[in-house]
Amino acid sequence: CGIVAYIGHREACPIIIKGLRRLEYRGYDSAGVALLNGELNVFKKKGKVADLEAFIADKNVHAHVGMGHTRWATHGEPNDVNAHPHYSTSERIAIIHNGIIENYAALKTHLIQQGHEFHSDTDTEVFVNLIEEIQKQNKCSLEEAVRLALHEVVGAYAIVVLSKDEPNQLIAARKGSPMVIGVGENEFFLASDATPIIEYTNEVVYVNDYEIAVIRDGKLDIRSKEDVPQTPYIQKLELEL
Ligand code: GLU
Repeated sequence: CGIVAYIGHREACPIIIKGLRRLEYRGYDSAGVALLNGELNVFKKKGKVADLEAFIADKNVHAHVGMGHTRWATHGEPNDVNAHPHYSTSERIAIIHNGIIENYAALKTHLIQQGHEFHSDTDTEVFVNLIEEIQKQNKCSLEEAVRLALHEVVGAYAIVVLSKDEPNQLIAARKGSPMVIGVGENEFFLASDATPIIEYTNEVVYVNDYEIAVIRDGKLDIRSKEDVPQTPYIQKLELEL
């Protein structure tokens, strides 16, 4: 029910964990993080953000790119496996997702025929495998694969996608579920609402429905689902901390 992501020069994990805590008021049943540091590592747990923190306490969470999620289960019971982030079959791509993919069952049947393996009962794991399959078939960038996948899914989503093959990049998209990007100095924050962001920057961009945001090499690029570049409207927040 909440997403937080970071790309920049700071340690990503503490920012993400703190951000997830700030989103706790939205309600959730599990929490997880994915960290990109050469490897793409996923840590996730049923329960509170505090349980996730205890779980990662002895793990290597050093990374400058990462994303975190609190889940409000819609497809599949609350447990460790169904918690987000979810890997694609190759474990080279990971996704976090708020929302519901309504046509996940038909997509899943098709993807299983194409050799994809599923470990969870979620609609979200279908989404990340769809992206992987599209990238494989089209031999395209992750950005292009995400864009094409958005034309095939029916439902609501706010997603963030990371790929081991394209480090130093964070891709996000939304339709129906909220998403805000915080613009810092050579760093970007992304969250379901501005509360995890305001302590770092008051410059934010609200992502619109059917937009894809790509943050790569310190630059933010927002495009429509049809690949038309959009001019990001940067708002100044006047919130009291
Ligand atoms: N539909 C997804 C799931 O059940 C995402 C739920 C959410 O928005 O947290 O895993």
